[in-house]
Amino acid sequence: MLFGAIEAGGTKFVCGIGNENGEILERVSFPTTTPEETMGQVINFFKDKQMDAMGVGTFGPVDPNESSPTYGYITSTPKIKWRNFDIIGELKKHFNIPFGFDTDVNAAALGETEWGAAKGLDSCVYMTVGTGIGGGAVIRGEMVHGMLHPEMGHILVKRHPEDDFAGNCPYHQDCLEGMAAGPAIEKRWGKKGIELQEVDKVWEIEAYYLAQAAVNLIYTLSPKKIVLGGGVMHQKQLFPIIRENVKELLNGYVQTNEILSDIDQYIVPPGLGDNAGLCGAVALAKKACGI
Ligand code: ADP
Ligand code: ZN
Repeated sequence: MLFGAIEAGGTKFVCGIGNENGEILERVSFPTTTPEETMGQVINFFKDKQMDAMGVGTFGPVDPNESSPTYGYITSTPKIKWRNFDIIGELKKHFNIPFGFDTDVNAAALGETEWGAAKGLDSCVYMTVGTGIGGGAVIRGEMVHGMLHPEMGHILVKRHPEDDFAGNCPYHQDCLEGMAAGPAIEKRWGKKGIELQEVDKVWEIEAYYLAQAAVNLIYTLSPKKIVLGGGVMHQKQLFPIIRENVKELLNGYVQTNEILSDIDQYIVPPGLGDNAGLCGAVALAKKACGI
């Protein structure tokens, strides 16, 4: 089978065609400008493609509740032009096939359980640390929704004792995203993360916050795998420091093999690498076909 996949991001839309094994056969990307311009390019890319279903994983917040009148909308985003945009409605005007729709990170969590680092498991959390921080979760094989969908990027963290950065989340200032997303690193140190590779203190502080997020997720969702992706996590030295901090923070309270002996396999980069988002959208499409 062939699936259309859209990873709708705040800076670019990645579109592709994938199959039921999560293999990406074709991919293109378009800058995120206005809904008219960007969606025009997206529709043009897919219009002659053979597809059994489409999956859309998008930046949010979104309305993922199928019984809601605004299902399939991007809702209260700070990107004004995209606010209350009916992305699924727009696509349905052009493609009469089943659609799957969710946040980019819930989709990535689903893709990782299908084909990636959490393959064979029925739960995982996927957190991206990039321009923002976002997280999604699959529990018992289903993406987590509730009142809305998880917004793990904005959990509250305690401050590193040597960190006097005020934080830059427009809503909460010093939440996780405000302290640990790519732009927070850049603002705190006056340089981009990629230029700070050799400065240990940068990653010690970064890992201190990300470990708190992981610990909170372990306590609240008890996922069988925690996958950390996004641009900042290209700094692979973060992983061992995060794992060490997680163990320290848990302080022996959670006695599982995953934590005690196999933590190297528990907190991991995406198995799907930088395709996690697009494969997630393929997984959404596959799910929309009931397979
Ligand atoms: P987005 O979140 O916009 O989808 P990314 O996941 O690539 O995109 O995140 C971009 C952020 O990650 C930027 O703040 C950038 O500085 C940071 N970043 C990207 N690559 C690296 C890297 N190799 N090391 C550290 N930070 C990086
Ligand atoms: Zn916040």
